[in-house]
Amino acid sequence: MRTEQIALSPLAPGADLSLTVQRFGTAGARPRIYVQASLHADEIPGMIAAHHLRERLTVLEAEGRIRGEIVLVPSANPIGLSQRVSGSHIGRFNLADGINFNRGYPHLVPKVAERVEGRLTDDGEANVRLIREALRAELEAWEPSNPAEVMKKALLGLAQEADIVLDLHCDAEAVVHLYTHTRSAEEFAPLAALMGAHAYLLADVSGDEPFDEACSRPWAELADRFPDRPIPFSCHATTLEFRGERDVDHETARADAAAIVAYLTLRGAIEGTAPTLPEPLCRATPLAASEPVPAPGYGILVFKAQVGDRVKAGDAIADVIDPLTGATVQAKAPCDGVMFARVALRFVTRGMRIAKVAGTTAQRTGKLLGA
Ligand SMILES: [Zn+2]
Repeated sequence: MRTEQIALSPLAPGADLSLTVQRFGTAGARPRIYVQASLHADEIPGMIAAHHLRERLTVLEAEGRIRGEIVLVPSANPIGLSQRVSGSHIGRFNLADGINFNRGYPHLVPKVAERVEGRLTDDGEANVRLIREALRAELEAWEPSNPAEVMKKALLGLAQEADIVLDLHCDAEAVVHLYTHTRSAEEFAPLAALMGAHAYLLADVSGDEPFDEACSRPWAELADRFPDRPIPFSCHATTLEFRGERDVDHETARADAAAIVAYLTLRGAIEGTAPTLPEPLCRATPLAASEPVPAPGYGILVFKAQVGDRVKAGDAIADVIDPLTGATVQAKAPCDGVMFARVALRFVTRGMRIAKVAGTTAQRTGKLLGA
């Protein structure tokens, strides 16, 4: 393992920040895999999975079994990691401006398209090299306006060079689920099965430029823009949601790391016998069919459904109880599907999204992710 530090811009004079990057295998070799944990800095299940993954990769490297290069950023957000307010860890939003650390990545496609127009050929591999160069140049030209953007630029710079990007997150209370680009459905189906995912959510554009889409969308959109030139989809990226924020234990994290190693073996990044895939627990469904459940009133939230439960439209998912009058209203499932995530709060305000149900019929439009 080779460790390097990337200096970020200081938050204030003397308050220096850096990213720690750990590399396994041969520098520059392919396939190149990029794994980062805890971009939302208070989501620790990814960080513990990365810890166990590093142990596995260290052994595999000593055995000479890393074929390409695996780049690991085991703690991707030093800004969010240091944010505490009255004892609570705030790792999802930048306290400086309220912006989600997993939104607002630069959409480089228009300028990259200008840069490669007229230079693409019938050689797909040469086109991939040309597009990677253009992505690099356009990201380089992007001028961050604050320390969080400097960090985003550094992370995207590492990730967009990779063939496969795994961004490790978690939800508040949840079963394992994944988000990816529609055209990466086949790529990550084995990983979804190996991880035991209960929902596998696909979108072309989910809104507000999350990290995984900053990596993947250029390849889909440039292929559409230049249909007469071969442009292989060359950066598959997925957001892996490792259950709920308190699901941090060695046994689970070891199993998660083992699932990632098995998937990377299947993809040829690690030498070994390809794993036998378990029967998937779910099939891929559109993110636009994933419906939030709004709280129907103010009050005490008492869930009736557990994460991972299959529900039918109209099923009562939770009671919401007015603490003064005792009046109780029920939050109901908006569609048939799997309730794959729910909030950790137990007192809610009317309209608050308290759970998510992965349905099968795409109905939603516009921005598909929550705040
Ligand atoms: Zn997250």
